[in-house]
Amino acid sequence: MASSSSAPGSRHISDLVEEAKPAVFWTDHSGGPTASEPLSGKHHADLVIVGGGFTGLWSALQALEENPGRRVVVLEAQTTGFGASSRNGGFCDSSLTHGIGNGHSHWPDDMTDLLRMGDDNLAGLVRSMDSYNMKTSRWETDEVTMATAQWHLEELREGLDLDDHYGVHSRLLDQTQARSIANSPTYLGGLSSGPILLLDPGQLVWDLRKAVQGLGGIIHDHSRVTGVEPDGSELVVFSESTVGTKAGILRCERVIVATNAWAEPGKRIRNYVLPIYDHVLTTEPLSDAQMASIGWSGREGLADAGNQFHYYRLTADSRILWGGYDANYYFRNGMGAKYESRSESHKLIAGHFFDTFPQLEGLRFSHRWAGPIGTTSKFTAAFGRQHQNRLAWVAGYTGLGVGASRFGARVALDLIDGKDTERTELAMVRKKPVPIPPEPLRCAVVAATRRAIIRSDANHGRRGPWLSLLDRFGVGFDS
Ligand SMILES: Cc1cc2nc3c(=O)[nH]c(=O)nc-3n(C[C@H](O)[C@H](O)[C@H](O)COP(=O)(O)OP(=O)(O)OC[C@H]3O[C@@H](n4cnc5c(N)ncnc54)[C@H](O)[C@@H]3O)c2cc1C
Repeated sequence: MASSSSAPGSRHISDLVEEAKPAVFWTDHSGGPTASEPLSGKHHADLVIVGGGFTGLWSALQALEENPGRRVVVLEAQTTGFGASSRNGGFCDSSLTHGIGNGHSHWPDDMTDLLRMGDDNLAGLVRSMDSYNMKTSRWETDEVTMATAQWHLEELREGLDLDDHYGVHSRLLDQTQARSIANSPTYLGGLSSGPILLLDPGQLVWDLRKAVQGLGGIIHDHSRVTGVEPDGSELVVFSESTVGTKAGILRCERVIVATNAWAEPGKRIRNYVLPIYDHVLTTEPLSDAQMASIGWSGREGLADAGNQFHYYRLTADSRILWGGYDANYYFRNGMGAKYESRSESHKLIAGHFFDTFPQLEGLRFSHRWAGPIGTTSKFTAAFGRQHQNRLAWVAGYTGLGVGASRFGARVALDLIDGKDTERTELAMVRKKPVPIPPEPLRCAVVAATRRAIIRSDANHGRRGPWLSLLDRFGVGFDS
């Protein structure tokens, strides 16, 4: 999308962004759990899970369902859902491969199986939400990718052909049909596919936490794992409190590391996973007149086409959540609060918001935040094992992990339990993505790729020499 227009004025946009509360909309209310005590002293467990996001919580839940007697402990450095899991857009897609196009480019031979496993995974996720009476708001709808430049139309046609090839139902929309989904003067057409679920990810984290605890799983918040070491037939997990001085030691049989963009403990995961900060805004609830001005009665999940894209949706109380486009990497996998309030990024996407929906001038933003997306060079999770296969790690779903993290958790359990399943046979699981070079090359490669992506979008999608080279090696950079 072109840079922000003058409507409603860049000065005004700046004010609108500054006025928004720097907090995650999904968790900015009083319904959340009280943080549990950090781990302290020496204890035993059967399975220790490092990281309390979707991957960690789904690992715990599925482990306990499978073996109710298992002593499962989750150690979370901050509070459950602190990472990407409660900061995302809530698009819950069946894809395990960051979309069909990406999956097809890497694993064409496995794609039919991957699509089936993705559908089964999503169905399982819904079953769990029902059987544990989870409160998260959710609805099933289509996902529509909008063309906002002529060359996007060709890209969408190719997407349709690929969907047809795999028997996945999707349909092209002309300009009128696209604008009847949501009324934006920028839409030239669209590709409607689905179904997907749109849900409240913050509530889903809390619901999962409750379900895990209900089955006897133990969760320690503010317990940052600093290392895992083998000791005879056991593993020893060391943790330190992030709110005090308590330290803990857990001896256990098996460990799953689910720290995603943090890629810790240990250095191995960092070879494959980059933290990329993605920025999000939510508006105040739209009035009936504002809703009528855009239509959007199907409450679809929307995104625009192109390399740099926005994703957006309505919330249950009719706000618009608007995110994406400006993904930022910081030197040496830089992470932390200082990267979450980058107002240039929020202002950039706020300008794009009013370009897309100029009729909403006057609408205010209620919240602004950012979150770390763990990304790999294949845009899908990477899997690894250490300590004679007693520890498994999974990280890097890139921008599509809300659904896929449940599958990643399932695979991690297969790996630590030494089970050969059709999941562990997948090339996506067996082979690691191309490693990302260490610093200072890492920063240079990401910056070069980012510049090439911007050039490509400005140049009718032509890939250019740098992106073509990366394509040849099956390497990419995305949010
Ligand atoms: C802004 C944004 C928008 C997104 N939008 C979507 C979307 O709409 N749809 C979609 O499918 N995906 C989306 N994603 C991606 C999705 O949110 C993630 O893929 C998914 O949440 C990953 O879950 P996770 O549990 O693996 O990682 P996380 O949720 O990041 O959890 C990792 C946890 O590990 C903890 N941790 C780190 N180090 C340690 C340590 N040493 N010891 C203990 N704990 C530790 C962290 O505090 C964190 O809570 C988005 C992500 C972001 C950031």
